[in-house]
Amino acid sequence: MPKLLRLLSLAPLMLALVAAATEHPALIGHRLDVRIDPEQGTIAARDRLDLPAGAGSWDFFLHPGLDPQVVAGRAKLVRLGAQGHLEHFRLVSEGSAPVTLGYSGRIHHPLGELREGMGSARQGSPGIISDEGVVLDGFSGWYPQNPNALQNVDLRVRLPKGWMAVSQGAGPEVSLLDEGVSVRWREAQPQESIYLIAAPFERYTKATPHGEAQVYLRSADPQLAKGYLEATGRYLSMYSRLIGPYPYAKFALVENFWDTGFGMPSFTLLGPRVIRLPFILHTSFPHEVLHNWWGNGVYVDYETGNWSEGLTASLADHLLAEQGGRGAEYRRDSLRAYADYVRAGNDFPLRDFRGRHDSASQAVGYGKTFMVLHMLRRSLGDETFVAALRRFYRENLFQRAGFDDLRRAMEQESGRSLEDFFRRWTGRTGAPELALSNVMIDQTSSGRILRGRLEQVQAAAPFPLQVPLVVHLADGSILERQVPLSGRSTDFELPLPAAPVRLDVDPRFDLFRTLAPEESPATLSALFGSESGLILLPADAPADLAEGYRRLAEAWCEGSPGWKLQMDSDRKALSRDRPVWLLGWSNRFLADVVADQSQFQLDSAQRSLHLPKGDYAGKDFSLALVRNHGGQSVGWIGSLDPTALPGLARKLPHYGKYSYLVFQGGAPEIRIKGRWPVQDSSLMVWLSDRRPGLTTPPHRPLTGVLD
Ligand SMILES: [Zn+2]
Repeated sequence: MPKLLRLLSLAPLMLALVAAATEHPALIGHRLDVRIDPEQGTIAARDRLDLPAGAGSWDFFLHPGLDPQVVAGRAKLVRLGAQGHLEHFRLVSEGSAPVTLGYSGRIHHPLGELREGMGSARQGSPGIISDEGVVLDGFSGWYPQNPNALQNVDLRVRLPKGWMAVSQGAGPEVSLLDEGVSVRWREAQPQESIYLIAAPFERYTKATPHGEAQVYLRSADPQLAKGYLEATGRYLSMYSRLIGPYPYAKFALVENFWDTGFGMPSFTLLGPRVIRLPFILHTSFPHEVLHNWWGNGVYVDYETGNWSEGLTASLADHLLAEQGGRGAEYRRDSLRAYADYVRAGNDFPLRDFRGRHDSASQAVGYGKTFMVLHMLRRSLGDETFVAALRRFYRENLFQRAGFDDLRRAMEQESGRSLEDFFRRWTGRTGAPELALSNVMIDQTSSGRILRGRLEQVQAAAPFPLQVPLVVHLADGSILERQVPLSGRSTDFELPLPAAPVRLDVDPRFDLFRTLAPEESPATLSALFGSESGLILLPADAPADLAEGYRRLAEAWCEGSPGWKLQMDSDRKALSRDRPVWLLGWSNRFLADVVADQSQFQLDSAQRSLHLPKGDYAGKDFSLALVRNHGGQSVGWIGSLDPTALPGLARKLPHYGKYSYLVFQGGAPEIRIKGRWPVQDSSLMVWLSDRRPGLTTPPHRPLTGVLD
């Protein structure tokens, strides 16, 4: 989940200022003394500013109505007018000593809906002080902020009794006052924004070798806190070893009072619903922890493209998938998201990525960036790739960096020029589409040679690729080669030590490319996700089943005006222009679904289904499956038990990611679920009569470099 999401969605103006940042931004010291009155929604503050020597004047932005005054030091304050939702000031210094500003007023923007693509919205506020809690950042204008500058901070916050404040860096130093509590946080390293979060939090802590783990919950829950404290220790250790020392004194999980997924420096602000989802500990949470290296450690130079989401996806989401043996699946899903959501009209080069605002920008900014980095990793090797990431981190920590800095680190560690690779992959839209042809085996005096041709057949110019070829051999061994393909086409030849069985191009989805249709197994979501389609009822079914199927179909069509019902007897052929559901064993188009495929055997006379996982026949079983037929998704549902049909109507839409399902009994209960294996794609060729499955071992997870 993105940091700076609020800034990006709300402030094109401020972003333009960030974009204009100079090579070496000014470093401003803030010593902030702040009093917060949650009931009134007010802040009263003094900020002692340490400005760079010789800077005659300094521009900053502040929330309107705070009426800043110079209370110490020699300087004049000029109000320049409104700038977006903030006020623009210029501080003209008349000496070299620090200048202290005093200001006070109300910051209270109630939560509003922010649109996030079609049908999706989330809550947000540009800054709020309320009795429910306080959420303020640089964009809120709660302290004098210039988005071009970096700053360090020594922050003291006075709050009512029972309240606690959280900010970046080291803390909290808590002292009890006559009226309330004082909380101090400090961070000496340059920061992009200063955060102030507060609420009546329950605090939990645990020491780790890489910084203190902290948890702030809005109600006591020691079990929940324990899970996060332990996970924090685990991830801080893993990433410190993999990339470089964790850059902050603590890492905190902070519970927000609305649903957010923000990664701030040394803490994450997650919503109350999100933190209680059990899988978050293994998905969003490590992603937010890792943002302290990428995004909140090395800062993003937005002008040249946001590389941090793709890199964070690589080393969090993808790495955890790899550790679970699901790396190829994760990569295929990334390719599929690009294929499903990105069109010529909404595609953009990686250098233009700022932040996610819908599924398409996520598929490019997160997914494609991740895949481009994955190709780099495969090409350089894990050791070199990790060494380059360590260098990139070491040399750019607490500075703004871009793709060019990443490229330089990769070049320095590999000794290779990556100019062309980065130019083409980060500067252009689109994806390569591969074709395999002319495959033959030559028996020569010196042995067997496998020959063939690889091509990039997309309309756009070729991309630089190292295409993985995998040959399964008759003796059970596997031969792997990478074939460079930087132009339109290349002919390859592989000497073979044994007779070949099958040849696969990129079977583990290591390349960013357009998937061949057969590589993306048909799943029920293709039907459930379609706005229009056709449901064909079986004219020849017994009356009770026919009635059950009709009710199921009517339930599914309700609220989906693009879906139509028809009797199979009223059609001469299957339409090829939209997805189709076939209902019933006696459906006259069932033979079309069964024909010309090898993934299952359906015997409509015996009412039996043979799957790799077993055979299912008889009245007890209800079956559902989907396959690609003539370029369209065709689903089929077969049951002999009318009492199972209402349950199927209710349950099947929850199994969208599967290709086939077996239910048992009238309830009915799920017994088997699975996805079709990827085979017989245009990027594979059978080379003998045998038909073995792919047994290519998964790549070693990136953390393998630590072993
Ligand atoms: Zn993120």
